Amino acid sequence: MNKHQDHILDVHLNPNVKELKPSATVAINDLSNELKRSGRDIFKLGLGQSPFPVPEPVAEALRENAHQKDYLPVKGLRELQQAVAEHHKRTFGLHVDPDDVLIGPGSKELMFLLQLTYFGDLVIPSPSWVSYAPQARIIGRDILFLQTQFENDWHLMPEELEKLCFLDRERFRLLILNYPLNPTGTTMTEQHLKELAEVAERNRMILLSDEIYAKIHHEGTHKSIVPFYPEGTIFSGGLSKWCGAGGWRLGVFVFPRPLRWLLDAMAAVGTETFTSTSAPIQYAAVRAFQEGPEIEEYLKRSRRVLKALGNHIADKLAACGVKIRSPHGGFYLFPDFSPFREKLAERGIQNNSEMCRRLLEDTGVAILPGSDFGRSPEELTARLAYVDFDGRAAIESLESLADSTPLEEDFLKRQCGNVLEAIDRICNWINP
Ligand code: GLU
Repeated sequence: MNKHQDHILDVHLNPNVKELKPSATVAINDLSNELKRSGRDIFKLGLGQSPFPVPEPVAEALRENAHQKDYLPVKGLRELQQAVAEHHKRTFGLHVDPDDVLIGPGSKELMFLLQLTYFGDLVIPSPSWVSYAPQARIIGRDILFLQTQFENDWHLMPEELEKLCFLDRERFRLLILNYPLNPTGTTMTEQHLKELAEVAERNRMILLSDEIYAKIHHEGTHKSIVPFYPEGTIFSGGLSKWCGAGGWRLGVFVFPRPLRWLLDAMAAVGTETFTSTSAPIQYAAVRAFQEGPEIEEYLKRSRRVLKALGNHIADKLAACGVKIRSPHGGFYLFPDFSPFREKLAERGIQNNSEMCRRLLEDTGVAILPGSDFGRSPEELTARLAYVDFDGRAAIESLESLADSTPLEEDFLKRQCGNVLEAIDRICNWINP
């Protein structure tokens, strides 16, 4: 090899990605699968993937559209933009023009494009989803974490946001809120949303409202923040969580009319990066956003299972002495093991990553440390995704059960046995 080739092979990375590791959610899934393949009993509570199948009418629409092979417009298939606009009108009572809708290959990619395109600091509560901050780091934006507390259900308080703005009212900022919240499963009241919206509006922040878990609010009563700050809020959603279609990679942003310049700029970047979102998937997504009785029934059953399971395991963990909030939506819990700090320290466990690493090693239960969600490493919090069960079997088994029948422990043991076993293992591990 001559000197020149040698130089070409030198590690020469963009400084912004030098420290970048694979995303925690993706990495824990890969590790869990690898351990499973090697023959270990693994309880996959790491990646937040819907346990439910794609609803049949939507799967059927995908089969019917397998032949769609042309590139589509970068902003999305017209019928899909229309279906999303109508869905928005039905759900939130807000008029949306199909031109305000941007379709992308997953809302994660759209979030990255937004952060790249908008030139402002990223403001996020802690805890919040694993990828908002790394995306800002890759792009080179400043990040401001605003701390939240267990006592407030882990939600950002309006005073905290106001305090930040007070420091410098001139800065351009992008605030990302997410509820029902990944990683805690808790959601915000309408009053809370109103107050946050007022602060964001007064301070002319752009608000990205990540409502990807809206339809799996356990009571089906999710409220959007969009109507409280309509000119400055971008709504983010997609098929991954409510439609069991994470691997389909279909994300949706709905923009307010005054932010059309931002939509257009993101779309221009889209033409230079992904060109257009998968055509068959977009055709099938039209069917998903049209909803109808079959999809409504599917959602009702999904919520029923998630609610019963989430509450049951939160109660179990609380009974074992773990600090925990019961969930309002989605499929996450955010247990705080700090009551076991001394006992864990005796076993050489001082921080949340070591705690999760040892838990996986000793019990086969895979969960993610709170530090992946912006919490301090010393805080003994972790995120648990209660998704390791066969969602198809669970919702099929509800066919013969009256709506009023509570889903008790024997149902959960039968349908979600792995999750219950994982919780038992966690309890035995912290209380040996
Ligand atoms: N949102 C899911 C999670 O938090 C997985 C998808 C992802 O992180 O890309 O686990």
